[in-house]
Amino acid sequence: MSGEKKYCKECDEEIHGRRDKQFCSDYCRAIHYNNLNAEIAVFIRRINYTIRKNRSILSKLNPKGKARVHKMKLIDSGLNFDYYTNVYKTRSGKVYYFCYDQGYLELEDDYYALVVKENYVG
Ligand SMILES: [Zn+2]
Repeated sequence: MSGEKKYCKECDEEIHGRRDKQFCSDYCRAIHYNNLNAEIAVFIRRINYTIRKNRSILSKLNPKGKARVHKMKLIDSGLNFDYYTNVYKTRSGKVYYFCYDQGYLELEDDYYALVVKENYVG
């Protein structure tokens, strides 16, 4: 064998044997992927929480199913514009962002229209 030494991605022990090995042992490989899965689970939970919180904020600001609010009010309420469940583009080019059934559309002058998706089938 020639070339660089390889080290285990989990414990940094030097790896002997096949060059394409990334872990020194099955044990380290298992630990590594378990930790990775745990991190991914936390990441997913955080996003799910943020989207549910967004939905709750939008629904509180829009009790009648239609509302017009200023961007500052959305920001002050804690809406996170980075996370939503889906985007709906109309033929005229308007873009609605939805958190489940609760949606918003940017209007002019930093105002937003809040809407509720009525028939959530299909
Ligand atoms: Zn190892």
